[in-house]
Amino acid sequence: MQYRKLGRTGMTVSEISLGCEHLQGKDYDLVKTVIDAALDKGINFLDVFMSEPNVRTNIGRALAGRRESVIIQGHIGSCWVDGQYKVSRDIGECVACFEDLLTRLQTDYIDVGMLHFVDRETDWDALEQSEMMRYALSLKAKGTIRAIGMSSHNPVTARKAIESGLIDVLMFSLNPAYDLVPGDRDMTEIFSEVVAGKKQNFSGLTLEPARAALYRACEERGVAITVMKALAMGTLLSRERSPLGVALTEAQCLSYALSRPAVAAVMVGMQRLSDVESAAAYETLSDAERDHSEVLASLGMFRAGGRCMYCNHCLPCPARIDIAAVNKYLDLVLLDGSPADSVKQHYSALDNTAEACLRCGACEKRCPFEVPVIKRMQRAVEIFGK
Ligand code: SF4
Ligand code: SF4
Repeated sequence: MQYRKLGRTGMTVSEISLGCEHLQGKDYDLVKTVIDAALDKGINFLDVFMSEPNVRTNIGRALAGRRESVIIQGHIGSCWVDGQYKVSRDIGECVACFEDLLTRLQTDYIDVGMLHFVDRETDWDALEQSEMMRYALSLKAKGTIRAIGMSSHNPVTARKAIESGLIDVLMFSLNPAYDLVPGDRDMTEIFSEVVAGKKQNFSGLTLEPARAALYRACEERGVAITVMKALAMGTLLSRERSPLGVALTEAQCLSYALSRPAVAAVMVGMQRLSDVESAAAYETLSDAERDHSEVLASLGMFRAGGRCMYCNHCLPCPARIDIAAVNKYLDLVLLDGSPADSVKQHYSALDNTAEACLRCGACEKRCPFEVPVIKRMQRAVEIFGK
């Protein structure tokens, strides 16, 4: 298993992580089987957003005696009211449900206290000054949570929250199809349509600047992204159901998500032993089996404008430059003109920077997205000075 830094939190998480959503409604033995198998595979990061009491109790029992070996994203504002799940901003409900989470998970701390489901800008505006935010800050001050997170599907709202400086970790819906969705479209509406079986069609769209701006803001501020919906609820695996009109494999979806800036982990929904095995098997696949570039390059919307997709399909480079990484840092700068210190530091830490480029052009011949790599290497040198 590969591990990544969870942004500025100081924690380190497995890049393939366990989304526990589908453990709801399962009996204890199955929950324990899935959690045991995940931990055996090196998965150390769990998302627990569910407010339903039994699943929380089962996860707590399954983790008994091993709490210290996992990092838990637990949600604040995901409540169980009158026997049903509810997104709540009522401070009484939020406190009661968060304390219930601690009790049922048999712990006195949650690593990432995640403000749950903040999609509308107005919701963030209200939340920023709310008792719920003061509660999250007080939990962090006491050490009951180690970091404050927020889950969202809206890049504009999420960016505003990130730029407030209050959010350390962002749980965000991210996949190649959603990266085409205009920032002002309501993702909840899209999810409802998908669940109802209505096929989406994203042909004619191009990569959405609001999302690129969000990823840049996260990278600059050391805010880690934990990915949800990397498979778009499974639709990306089927040519008939995918809004892209082609079928991707699970590995290609995971590889795409893990190659976006600031991403620390992908939360993969697992509800049976075979799900754990198939998700963990990603770590053993060859580059060719993970490669998402060929299939996405066959679609005009990803090729438009010669934008780098950070796939490193253009390697090997005789100068040993990590071309995807240079392009990623360059994009972060080009989006708003001047390099943030954190981006400069990441760039400077590369083993070989763009100045090593020999202008041989081998990468351009291999790049399926028609990226003018040599010109971009020159631009990187101009901007970063090396
Ligand atoms: S230059 Fe092309 S092949 Fe290389 S990382 Fe970017 S998109 Fe992929
Ligand atoms: S042109 Fe530069 S970046 Fe591309 S393969 Fe040659 S040396 Fe590497």
